Amino acid sequence: MSIYEFCTLCPRGCRVDRTQNVGICGCTNDVYVARAALHMWEEPCISGERGSGAVFFVGCPLGCVYCQNHAISRVRAPRGVKMDASALSDTFLRLQNDERANNINLVTATQYTPTVADAIKLAKSQDLTVPVVWNSSGYETVDTLLLLDGLVDVYLPDFKYHDTALAVKYSHAADYPEVARLALDEMFRQVGEPSFADGRADIEDGIMVRGMVVRHLVLPTHADDSKRVIRYLRDRFGDGIYISIMSQYTPVADGLPQELTRSVTEDEYDDVVDYAVDIGVERGFTQEGGSVGESFVPEWW
Ligand code: SF4
Repeated sequence: MSIYEFCTLCPRGCRVDRTQNVGICGCTNDVYVARAALHMWEEPCISGERGSGAVFFVGCPLGCVYCQNHAISRVRAPRGVKMDASALSDTFLRLQNDERANNINLVTATQYTPTVADAIKLAKSQDLTVPVVWNSSGYETVDTLLLLDGLVDVYLPDFKYHDTALAVKYSHAADYPEVARLALDEMFRQVGEPSFADGRADIEDGIMVRGMVVRHLVLPTHADDSKRVIRYLRDRFGDGIYISIMSQYTPVADGLPQELTRSVTEDEYDDVVDYAVDIGVERGFTQEGGSVGESFVPEWW
């Protein structure tokens, strides 16, 4: 029996047969891709000047109420392009060879991990040499992450909430903080300290070839929780990871709670960044320019 036939690929643990049905992520075992193209808007060590080879997968196990990619994360019917492991591998190689992508950046692939792992293995057997980046919500089981051990070079997870109440209210996932802690520990075990394309241990303008960047999106009215997240990351990983503090929250989804119907203010964001500096975070990224607006959401297939 394949993992898809009794799915426990993510912490939702639906135990549905995805050859026949869908779970909370909204996905069968058929892999759908919403876009595969160069992407310039990741952190500088991921996008670089040439761009990251981003492959956006349809569906999402976490389903945050404020998701900026809700058009592809909350699927009710198949959309995008259906790809098996072979087609995915060809896509990775096209991004590397034809578009000269700095890496292959797999965005929200958790619900398809076995197929994507097979695709990475196939692509590597056909000379995929750029780093593979796993870009996820952080809501992942250790067992599923073990399927990626030795295949992923750079982990780019979120750590969204420290407070369980926020995880319940915005992602219907009371276990998010605990699950994400364990997931990040496993990711760090796999890839360890950061290293960059030119062999330096320091970032300069280099592309990360191994390591972990943890993202945290600051939400309106919740700067205190953001500080707790950053404190946790600093205490747990020290200078072993980069922390990306994001200001780009944009209220694009329908039916948002009142407090999420505006962008993050400059004061809120600066408060969080100042705190990170005060507690000694040196390896990090900040964003300029506030919310991104819907125009920055890519065009989906
Ligand atoms: S991947 Fe989807 S079906 Fe499987 S446990 Fe997670 S939400 Fe449920």
